[in-house]
Amino acid sequence: MKILEVRGLTKRFGGLIAVNNLDLDLGAGEILGLIGPNGAGKSTAFNCIAGVHPPTSGTITFDNKVSNTKKPWNLCREGLARTFQIVKPFASQTVLYNVMVGAFINTDRRDEAEERALKVLSSLRFDDKKDVKAGTLTIADRKRLEIARALATEPKLLLLDEVMAGLRPGEVDEMVEIIKNLSRTGVTIFVIEHIMRAIMALSDRIIVIQFGKKIAEGTPEEIASNENVIKAYLGE
Ligand code: ADP
Ligand code: MG
Repeated sequence: MKILEVRGLTKRFGGLIAVNNLDLDLGAGEILGLIGPNGAGKSTAFNCIAGVHPPTSGTITFDNKVSNTKKPWNLCREGLARTFQIVKPFASQTVLYNVMVGAFINTDRRDEAEERALKVLSSLRFDDKKDVKAGTLTIADRKRLEIARALATEPKLLLLDEVMAGLRPGEVDEMVEIIKNLSRTGVTIFVIEHIMRAIMALSDRIIVIQFGKKIAEGTPEEIASNENVIKAYLGE
């Protein structure tokens, strides 16, 4: 079963073509990786899929419904959640409260939101920090909070944009495990990541884009030995 289908996705900013005629499919339960040099259009592709930017042209189908003109909050209610590359929690509020904000998209009952948030925190082995103010968290914990907040919306599809940037090697390994465990609970995952070792360990399949265009697609093994990919990265 397909959860996401993208056909001919193009996004222009004035004269710049950030995403150029991109096609991709994502099956339910899959982990799909998206990589490419800086400025390749990865975050822009996510923004289009998540309803942040309307595509200039092309068709995005989420959960069998065309989603091109839907707004992020509506998509979120339908089961599409994302994290942002720049993490901005409510700094003076607790971790628990920040995660409850995600849960409030599906309920207006405080007890339900809290129950959902606590469940998510425990699944991320993060419940010990529930009363800590978000502004005092380390980078690794902020990333974890960002994922928790997205998960609290009960997504079918989770878009992760560089959640491992700035983490230490041990923290990267832990994040890979967290994401694999999420996948085992049935959430479909689409992940942008710069850390090659992590994306290779995580993904069932990887798409590589450069200058907004897909230059390769395949298993981690196929991508690691693909000449176009090696050239794109050496040219960075
Ligand atoms: P990546 O995430 O792969 O590093 P981005 O999608 O952030 O790349 O950016 C792709 C290109 O689009 C870059 O040249 C960037 O400067 C440009 N871009 C991204 N967002 C905007 C925007 N809101 N307005 C204008 N240009 C943008
Ligand atoms: Mg980006």
